[in-house]
Amino acid sequence: MSDADPRRAIPRTDVLLAEPRLSAAIERLGTDAVRSAITTAQARARRGEIAPTDVADVAVASLPARASSLTPVLNATGVVVHTNIGRAPLSDAALQAVVDAAGYVDVELDLITGSRGRRGAGVLGALREAVPAAGDVLVVNNGAAALVLATTALAAGRDVVVSRGEMVEIGDGFRLPDLIASTGASLREVGTTNRTHQRDYLEAVGPDTGCILKVHPSNFRVDGFVASVGVDELADVRRPDGSVVPVVADIGSGLLVRDPALPDEPDAASSLRSGATLVTASGDKLLGGPQAGLILGEAGVVERLRRHPLARAVRVDKLTLAALEATLRGPVTPVTASLHLTADQLRPRTDRLAEVLGRQVVAVVGRVGGGGAPGVPLPGWAVEVPVGVVQRLRRPSGDDPVVLARVEDGHGLIDLRCVPPERDADVERALLAVLAGAGTPPPP
Ligand SMILES: *Cc1c(COP(=O)(O)O)cnc(C)c1O
Repeated sequence: MSDADPRRAIPRTDVLLAEPRLSAAIERLGTDAVRSAITTAQARARRGEIAPTDVADVAVASLPARASSLTPVLNATGVVVHTNIGRAPLSDAALQAVVDAAGYVDVELDLITGSRGRRGAGVLGALREAVPAAGDVLVVNNGAAALVLATTALAAGRDVVVSRGEMVEIGDGFRLPDLIASTGASLREVGTTNRTHQRDYLEAVGPDTGCILKVHPSNFRVDGFVASVGVDELADVRRPDGSVVPVVADIGSGLLVRDPALPDEPDAASSLRSGATLVTASGDKLLGGPQAGLILGEAGVVERLRRHPLARAVRVDKLTLAALEATLRGPVTPVTASLHLTADQLRPRTDRLAEVLGRQVVAVVGRVGGGGAPGVPLPGWAVEVPVGVVQRLRRPSGDDPVVLARVEDGHGLIDLRCVPPERDADVERALLAVLAGAGTPPPP
């Protein structure tokens, strides 16, 4: 290698590690990631692929924007609870609670006495206040875990009686019958796909019945010649010997009290008042909080679940407890705000975006999503864009945010329903970049 060899000009690693942008990246991503980006850029310079003077820039450009590979997405689909993009976005209050709980926190310590405290006492108190009809409450990892814990504790080695109209798949291939079977309980199906009557349950229950399970068909609708049995009638079902059968109501979406905008969506308070022994629900659907499974019901039965060994395996973490309590006690959640946004409220924001982009506004119907109330339309407005734009909006590019839009009947639709109003400008920026063809291709 001669003195004139340009490879001699490649900056040394210690010099690069001290470069302001790269040393800042160490704070964000750790030394290993930055060192590896530097080594790769140096190697490219050695092969003559890039100029030695560009090594720092190339290393900086190759670093990911954040330590997690999860990319934040602006939801312009008009679908409020969208499992593929993380269901409920947390409220600012819940977000702050997560930040506060991220370090050491008194999750299981009584700071006054210095002795061990009840884990998550705050969230349990908030849930009990929200649903006074619940004798006791328990929080686990998700709705499926709540269901598994309830059926295991009440019916392992015995029967779980379920209507054939409620043998649902909850998404990603997970099916209720498989979930129940995994607990060691036997599924006792009653009725037919479209109609089940109280007498079907009466004929099925016996000494081997552990519980009756009522599952809300949260992600589909069956219309026409249909009949199902309400929680109130299930609560009246007795075994031949006259003994009471526990009724577990899986309401799915996590509405704690009735929402007039969602008339067909069951809520925990009503289900308990109707006689459900236990109600199970998700924390990150209509409740608008973090992923969690809520169990509410008769104190003695909830206590039985709490003492079951499986409860420890589905225990919820401090971040979830913090976010859930802040969701329950805090301001209106983003999910609720999006659900209740009217077409008239959406119009001016949509008009503004359409004008900047020089595109048309079209009437659309948003959806609650797989998380609940599948039949409830959410009338609104969207900006129409070519389908190709929708694809390019999805690709991370420079500093522009990723925007997820909807495709319907061959049209791309930008629906601002689930975009926080303060982020409208970011949606606009991403769209302008893509429409100008300025979107760079995704990194290899
Ligand atoms: C979503 C849902 C579940 C599963 O809840 P996760 O929180 O997703 O585990 C179970 N039952 C019903 C009726 C649901 O809608």
